[in-house]
Amino acid sequence: MKKIGLYLFTNDLRINDNTLLYQASQSVDELLCVAIEPRLSSYSVWLSQEPHNGAHRHLFIKQALDDLALSLARLGQRLFVLERNTSEGLVQLVKSQQVTHFFASSHCAHDERQLVIDTLTQCPDLLISQQHHTTLFESDTFPFELTKLPRSFTKFRLQVEHLEIKTEESVIAYLPPVPQTATDPYREPLLESEASDTGGYAGGETAGLTHLENYFSNDYAGTYKQTRNALDSIENSTKFSPWLALGCVSPKTIYRHLKQFEAHRGANDSTYWIYFELLWREYFYWKCLTLGTSLFGRKSSDLPNEQLLDTTAGASFAKWKSGNTNYSIVDACMRQLNATGYMSNRGRQLVASCLIHELGIDWRHGAAYFESQLIDYDVSSNWCNWAYIAGALNPQATQNTNKQNAANQSQSKSRHFDLVKQTEMYDPEHAFINKWHQDDKASASTRYQDVI
Ligand SMILES: Cc1cc2nc3c(=O)[nH]c(=O)nc-3n(C[C@H](O)[C@H](O)[C@H](O)COP(=O)(O)OP(=O)(O)OC[C@H]3O[C@@H](n4cnc5c(N)ncnc54)[C@H](O)[C@@H]3O)c2cc1C
Repeated sequence: MKKIGLYLFTNDLRINDNTLLYQASQSVDELLCVAIEPRLSSYSVWLSQEPHNGAHRHLFIKQALDDLALSLARLGQRLFVLERNTSEGLVQLVKSQQVTHFFASSHCAHDERQLVIDTLTQCPDLLISQQHHTTLFESDTFPFELTKLPRSFTKFRLQVEHLEIKTEESVIAYLPPVPQTATDPYREPLLESEASDTGGYAGGETAGLTHLENYFSNDYAGTYKQTRNALDSIENSTKFSPWLALGCVSPKTIYRHLKQFEAHRGANDSTYWIYFELLWREYFYWKCLTLGTSLFGRKSSDLPNEQLLDTTAGASFAKWKSGNTNYSIVDACMRQLNATGYMSNRGRQLVASCLIHELGIDWRHGAAYFESQLIDYDVSSNWCNWAYIAGALNPQATQNTNKQNAANQSQSKSRHFDLVKQTEMYDPEHAFINKWHQDDKASASTRYQDVI
């Protein structure tokens, strides 16, 4: 009997360092390559008060899918893109194409896991292969059970940072053909010339790998620890996050480049700190997996019964989103996000702290707005960072007061940033603020001219 595979691309939109796709290429006679375009969930639509993903995020995803489609086409394959994030379309494909083998990246988030479970429930004969291949480590290499994941980042880091990371890359030179009965390429890839014109900040594996090469061909990594908190500019932090979020570049590929950089130019505190930050990403990934739906606070089915935001909070939230809170550092960061789809880590901490503490708004509204706008939106990094700042990452620990739990308690404290002090530290000349308030100045001078 013919073995027909279906490879579901989710947060692994890449060909390189894709061990699961390699496994698929070796185990079936024909293969369907399918992706589901990430859409804003109804829970996040409700919380963010945005109808769909913002323009920058939408474009970045589209570019990533187009680039993947192009790479697959070079291997004689085709990408089918489903538009709805439900099992319906998948089940239909499995049944109509008589799929026997199902391959999907393991995911840390509840909805994405549920999608696979729902598909398997309706197609119980499928043979499934899954892997967590968007992380540095496999969970079975940890010296603890996942159910006993340390409750603080520091404890986690100390136990894992010396573990071996396997970075050998699987090169895919061949993919089995598309089943002949599969028609309808759901999406036409961009023409090759258009795709390569989009430069280093475009979505997709090609642009991501180019960015990685560029970053490490400069000396930026050698000074990362001193510059990483800056509010702007490519040389200050790596900007790997957009490609990591969609899995266009794997963290292992980044780690391999980091080690090569250290071998050629020397290791120092800064190069270690890039690894340190990747460990934060790693920690939040496994944290998200262990927390399940509790990370998001409530079930989407509960939503219609809850008051969203009262009129005052609703107006404050709208001002926060558009960068009009009158906290100039916060407004500048929010305008940067709205204009580019990106915001620095420092900026994210400040705007989150402002939403939670100055404006008194439930952090989940902010997290959902980020979800709709960020080109690097990543479910675990986003929701865990927001919960961390809100002091909601380990909710149970707040009731626990004994000394041994001091570290856990620290993860349950909310972070409140002094916006004046932070501005003095990170934008003393107001260069960043002025950059993003230029429109105000232009419109103020227009108003002034109108008056005289
Ligand atoms: C409220 C809030 C929301 C966030 N939402 C996201 C998100 O949706 N997606 C996302 O990728 N990151 C998120 N972050 C983490 C961090 O801000 C971004 O990863 C970082 O700004 C990306 O820029 P960079 O690649 O230049 O980071 P660098 O400073 O160069 O760090 C290197 C890599 O380490 C990882 N990393 C760094 N800091 C963190 C962190 N605090 N948590 C998890 N991983 C980290 C990222 O993968 C990053 O690309 C959020 C942080 C906060 C405070």
